[in-house]
Amino acid sequence: MSDCIFCKIIDGSIPSNKVYEDDKVVAFHDINPLAKVHILVVPKCHIESADHIDAGNSDFVKHVFEVIPGIAKDAGVTDNYQVVNNCGEKAGQTVKHLHFHILSNK
Ligand code: 5GP
Ligand code: ZN
Repeated sequence: MSDCIFCKIIDGSIPSNKVYEDDKVVAFHDINPLAKVHILVVPKCHIESADHIDAGNSDFVKHVFEVIPGIAKDAGVTDNYQVVNNCGEKAGQTVKHLHFHILSNK
C-alpha cells in the first residue's frame, strides 16, 4: 500500500528504530511511547486490521505471536507486559496496517 506508514517502514523508505526483523515480521520502538517499553510488532503483509485476518494471511499473524516472547525478552520483560491491538478507528486504531503493541513499565 503506497500510502501506508508501516509498509514504508517495512520497505525502508521511512526510518525506524528496529529491534527485530525476519522475513515475515518487523518490530520497532513506537515513536510516541506510552510505557517504558513500547514496541510495535508488524507483519510484513499489508493487513488493514485484526478484522481483516483470514486464512490467506494468518500465517503472518501466527508468526507475530511466535516472535513476541523473544522480542519481549530482549526488551527486558518476560512475564509483565501487555500485547494490545486496536481494531478500527473507533477503538483507537490510527495506522491501518495490523500491528500489536508490546507495552510494559517493567
Ligand atoms: P494505533 O493507534 O493504530 O493502535 O497505533 C499506532 C501507533 O503507531 C501509535 O502508537 C503511534 O505512536 C505509532 N506510530 C505512528 N507513526 C509512526 C512512525 O512513523 N514510526 C513509529 N515508530 N511509530 C509510529
Ligand atoms: Zn501497510
